[in-house]
Amino acid sequence: MIPVSHFGHRPVAVLGLGKAGLAACRALKAGGAEVWAWDDAPAARAAAEREGFAPVDPAAIDWTKAAALVLSPGIPHTHPKPHPACAAAKAAGCPITGEVELLYRTQIAATYVGITGTNGKSTTTALIAHILERAGRRVQVGANLGRPALDLAPLDGDGIYVLEMSSYQLELTERTIFDVAVMLNIAPDHLARHGGMKGYIAAKERIFLHQDEDCTAIVGIDDADGRAMADRLSGPAVIRISGLEASAGPWAKDGTLRDENGPVADLTRALALPGAHNGQNAAAAHAACRALGIPREAIVDGLMTYPGLAHRQELVRTIGRVRYVNDSKATNADAAVRALSSYDGIHWIAGGRPKETGLSGVEPFLGRVRKAYLLGEAEADFADFLKGAVPTVRCGTLDRALAEAHAAAQKDGKEAVVLLSPACASFDQFRSFEERGDVFRRLVEALP
Ligand code: ADP
Repeated sequence: MIPVSHFGHRPVAVLGLGKAGLAACRALKAGGAEVWAWDDAPAARAAAEREGFAPVDPAAIDWTKAAALVLSPGIPHTHPKPHPACAAAKAAGCPITGEVELLYRTQIAATYVGITGTNGKSTTTALIAHILERAGRRVQVGANLGRPALDLAPLDGDGIYVLEMSSYQLELTERTIFDVAVMLNIAPDHLARHGGMKGYIAAKERIFLHQDEDCTAIVGIDDADGRAMADRLSGPAVIRISGLEASAGPWAKDGTLRDENGPVADLTRALALPGAHNGQNAAAAHAACRALGIPREAIVDGLMTYPGLAHRQELVRTIGRVRYVNDSKATNADAAVRALSSYDGIHWIAGGRPKETGLSGVEPFLGRVRKAYLLGEAEADFADFLKGAVPTVRCGTLDRALAEAHAAAQKDGKEAVVLLSPACASFDQFRSFEERGDVFRRLVEALP
């Protein structure tokens, strides 16, 4: 934990008492501040109170007395409309801040690596941290992925914080400077929260805020918004990376990662990095680690030994010639497409609570699917959508879907992948995509 002491004994309001908010409460208390904790949900308030943080209703706060408002990234402070506490704090001139800004101000000697983008943030963050750790560097990894920023360990000048930054978190940084900043890609997402595409791009671009010529900006140029962003940067060294085609910086194509010195690594041997999208992630990680002085051999070693993250094309087991892959994180068609494009001979388990876009976008990849095993609320619609393109079977539940997919894949005797990539939310049958993926993993591990 990082004690935050620069507010002295003054009161600091914390709004939002999830994992990150509670970590902020503890860090502020350890640093000597008086914590005014609040969450609009009574259950979250009760949990904080059990830890000794008595709730203080922001409606009753005199904001001229508070040293700061520490906001959880999930709470809107601009669009679609600011939380009333943010509006009141702002009107009284009380600064609004977030966990990463507080970490930065406290651990000023360390090196900071920030990763953002619409897709691939968690993978690239974990991959960079893995390469650095294998190379013997002292690393703390967290923020939007895994542990909250203020829950990490203190680091001195030799240490590196590797932080996944959502656009919400980037809206709450002010003085934070990333020595190495990565922006992977931009696709429409969370637009209501940022007041449209322009606001969303502006939030992502904040990863490069205050970077000077000693800093490195790594930008994915596989979409027009990324290309434009790279062209706008003037302070830092800009490295343009691609997962599609030759680029001035590291790039990947057809399973080979390259840089200006030629081929770097055969990514088809990096089992936890399948697919072209992971080529982009690998190119970004290569560029970031090189900027931090990691030798090429150590980077290749890290790429090859990267174990992957749970629920993201996670290889759970191989039985005979069949691989069993957990991609429960694919909660929409766009994410499922990435997985479908990564394998052949797929026995595809899909369904759950459907998104508005349904399965649209998967059509070009259905040639890779041998059969689809459907479950959940989406079952009937997905069966209709896939009619004529691939054989489907309506299974109702995940255990039946896996049993049928397993039987069919093993009976074939061919190379195959049993892939859970639902293209749906999980909430009709599970509490979260994590729970859905955990159930899948347990079922696969229990197979004979
Ligand atoms: P994030 O943290 O940004 O949500 P993850 O690394 O958790 O990203 O990956 C989530 C899903 O997004 C993956 O399962 C994959 O389908 C897809 N994905 C990963 N990397 C990329 C990328 N570079 N470009 C596009 N899609 C990606």
